[in-house]
Amino acid sequence: MPDRLADLTTLRLGGPARELVHATSEQRLLDTVGEADSAGTPVLLVAGGSNLVVSDEGFDGTVVHVATTGVRVEQDTCGGAVVTVAAGETWDDLVARAVDEGWLGIEALSGIPGSVGATPIQNVGAYGQEVSETIASVRCWDRVLRGQRTFFAADCRFGYRTSRFKQDPGRHVVLDVTFQFRLGDQGAPVQYAELARRLGVELGDRAPAADVRSAVLALRAGKGMVLDPADHDTWSAGSFFTNPMLDRDTAATLPADAPRWEQPDGTVKTSAAWLIEHAGFGKGYGNDRVALSGKHTLALTNRGSATTADLLALAGEVQTGVLEAYGVRLVNEPVLVGCSLPVPA
Ligand SMILES: Cc1cc2nc3c(=O)[nH]c(=O)nc-3n(C[C@H](O)[C@H](O)[C@H](O)COP(=O)(O)OP(=O)(O)OC[C@H]3O[C@@H](n4cnc5c(N)ncnc54)[C@H](O)[C@@H]3O)c2cc1C
Repeated sequence: MPDRLADLTTLRLGGPARELVHATSEQRLLDTVGEADSAGTPVLLVAGGSNLVVSDEGFDGTVVHVATTGVRVEQDTCGGAVVTVAAGETWDDLVARAVDEGWLGIEALSGIPGSVGATPIQNVGAYGQEVSETIASVRCWDRVLRGQRTFFAADCRFGYRTSRFKQDPGRHVVLDVTFQFRLGDQGAPVQYAELARRLGVELGDRAPAADVRSAVLALRAGKGMVLDPADHDTWSAGSFFTNPMLDRDTAATLPADAPRWEQPDGTVKTSAAWLIEHAGFGKGYGNDRVALSGKHTLALTNRGSATTADLLALAGEVQTGVLEAYGVRLVNEPVLVGCSLPVPA
């Protein structure tokens, strides 16, 4: 029985891998990628598998499961904590430790599944924080130059759910990420209205980091955004579509009650969840194989017997529906491997 990608992804979708290597050391990771590149064999890096949609045909190449470990801490009361974390470490374990140790700035990113090494790829964000705010540098293997490179945060081209690593897919193997944390027990200023309400503070105020973590975990659980094997609403890749960034003219054509957030670059961000819901796709929309989560319209979920083709068909239906209703083309957030969304008719 070949290794199936479905066993490595939170959607539990994806066909067989030609070869699967568990890279538990950096040397093994580098050797595996280097050998595959020399042989001209395609490579797919998989860590937590929580942002991946893999085709039913699987991956005809080497799948490298990034499972490296190790955390290095340099801390002093003036400079804060400089923490270097191997790519394969579990992201939420780092957040939990940060809250315990008084390392500030990632507490609102509690409960996001997956690895530390994947966080810079799409600059993960939630509840008013983005990982780029605390990343100092990212050390990589560059598969084109065939050498190691360290990118400081300013060179990572971080943006909303993007970075140079996402823009140049597959080129960089993230080996470790170095964070620079301020020290304390009050979390960073709360920047998200729903979180501020839950904590009973004003926007921009601080709250104990431990309280922020508990509040975020509770909010996320209510939306099916914390992994739970028993709950099909969490068999997803998180938000399937990013929030659209619109020019002012397009934003002006949306109904008056559509959410609008002015961006520093003059664009206007709106809510993908709002557009989906108001285009007629409510929570639970779908069938007994694939459906929008019963808790959150933005998550497309496997109800237990789905195929990737089923998932893409639903994604395409939602994308077309929103395009027809509002003239806005939603863009998928997860990385699609060997597959694509259907082109709207
Ligand atoms: C329930 C749920 C909730 C989520 N909530 C959020 C959220 O609030 N905010 C958010 O931003 N995201 C969210 N996500 C998406 C996802 O958790 C993040 O994008 C996460 O960082 C992916 O990590 P991973 O290790 O699972 O990556 P994978 O899915 O394994 O990989 C994702 C991409 O990164 C590449 N990659 C992985 N590791 C490396 C490496 N070491 N070097 C180079 N490339 C690599 C892969 O090849 C792939 O292209 C959610 C997902 C789920 C399932």
